[in-house]
Amino acid sequence: MVHASPFRGPSGSGGPLSAAALGTGTSSVLDETLEPVYQEVLARNPGELEFHQAVREVLESLGPVVAKHPEYAEAAIIERLCEPERQIIFRVPWTDDSGQVRINRGFRVQFNSALGPFKGGIRFHPSVYLGIIKFLGFEQIFKNALSGMPIGGGKGGSDFNPRGRSNAEVMRFCQSFMTELHRHVGEYTDVPAGDTGVGEREIGYMFGQYKRIANSYESGVLTGKGLGIGGARVRREATGYGTVIFVEEMLKAKGTSLDGRRGVVSGSGNVAIYAIEKAAQLGGTCVACSDSDGIVVDEAGIDLELLKQVKEVERGRLTSYAERRGSARYIEDGRIWEVPCDVALPCATQNELNHADAMALARNGCVVVAEGANMPTTPDGVRVLMDAGVLFAPGKAANAGGVATSALEMQQNASRDSWSFAQSEEKLAEIMRAIHERCADTAAEYGSPGNYVAGANIAGFKQVADAMLALGVI
Ligand code: GLU
Repeated sequence: MVHASPFRGPSGSGGPLSAAALGTGTSSVLDETLEPVYQEVLARNPGELEFHQAVREVLESLGPVVAKHPEYAEAAIIERLCEPERQIIFRVPWTDDSGQVRINRGFRVQFNSALGPFKGGIRFHPSVYLGIIKFLGFEQIFKNALSGMPIGGGKGGSDFNPRGRSNAEVMRFCQSFMTELHRHVGEYTDVPAGDTGVGEREIGYMFGQYKRIANSYESGVLTGKGLGIGGARVRREATGYGTVIFVEEMLKAKGTSLDGRRGVVSGSGNVAIYAIEKAAQLGGTCVACSDSDGIVVDEAGIDLELLKQVKEVERGRLTSYAERRGSARYIEDGRIWEVPCDVALPCATQNELNHADAMALARNGCVVVAEGANMPTTPDGVRVLMDAGVLFAPGKAANAGGVATSALEMQQNASRDSWSFAQSEEKLAEIMRAIHERCADTAAEYGSPGNYVAGANIAGFKQVADAMLALGVI
């Protein structure tokens, strides 16, 4: 009898993409003092293409900052920022339902703790390798700074594929993952949360295992917990809601709003669902969403109750939505960005909106693109959108509501308090408005009014850089 290898094989979805596929081949020129820093990052981190992309994207914004602040270069702030404080890679053995032992790889990259304990999600997806976790952890530093909350940046995950796994298998995997991770996390050290493939269920299993090992009910060690075990109201909704609140602020600055606008959202997970919900509350209509197999176009507007039933209750696929909804069309392998819209919200995964997609959006009259996912737009896609005058909100700013609400969960856990939905939502809206204002003001101050990429990168960077200066060479 031939046994399947317990190790993840070289499947199509695993491992890094080529630079050409990432759209990184047509980058603009870096400031001459930053180019050597970038070259050093390439040399020290071979093959980690998404990490290279995330670093370059930030460095492209920092020319005017290093020119104005020589103290950052003198203290090697950027070089230090590009090197994680600590990187942990570990074996995650578990037993599947047939009794076969399986082995995955676990990661936690503790990137920067200048502003507070490392904070960032855990991703379970077969594409996970060190380069993905490092890009996510690097972005998280600036996003968390922008949120205005006292949290550093980190990220973790595994190449475990939860798709098709039973509840018991997911639980055993989460327990094994936490059996190693527990020694590296803590309320004042590192506070993980969810990301792709990790929701309330997985956080619950990891928290249970942590509690058991530590013999201590330390609610502050993880966020994104269910409401009954120390979770916070609005955490589930926060990333999607926050992204749409950010869009409304951008439109407001242009004297208009979301009311009556047509939206297209990629993905159909937690971020996508609550982006669709908030858009509807603000008078918009989302007519399409997607999963990794295809897209649904529903001209009557996505039926949220049905979508939640399919995705949250049944953990099903969008084919199941389309089968139960007369107005919906399912297009296998369809390109979501070809569906005409005013507002496009990439809420699925990295590099899902490329040059051709950006051209299609601009051609079809799209006015705003806001990233609910992390780095979903390729660099050449971003350039097309900006050159076409499309308002563009980078994930660091637009999706910061999720982690900001995690920080509110930490606050509630520390004070053994639990806030109402309305109070929590108002706080989230306040945070998103503040991030918008900070990005807009910083972009204008550094000579790029309306450029939210520059605004987010510079404002986030300056806050972390100043904290690092204050803390000395550590
Ligand atoms: N994974 C989310 C993000 O990308 C949330 C992280 C958190 O809540 O710590 O920001």
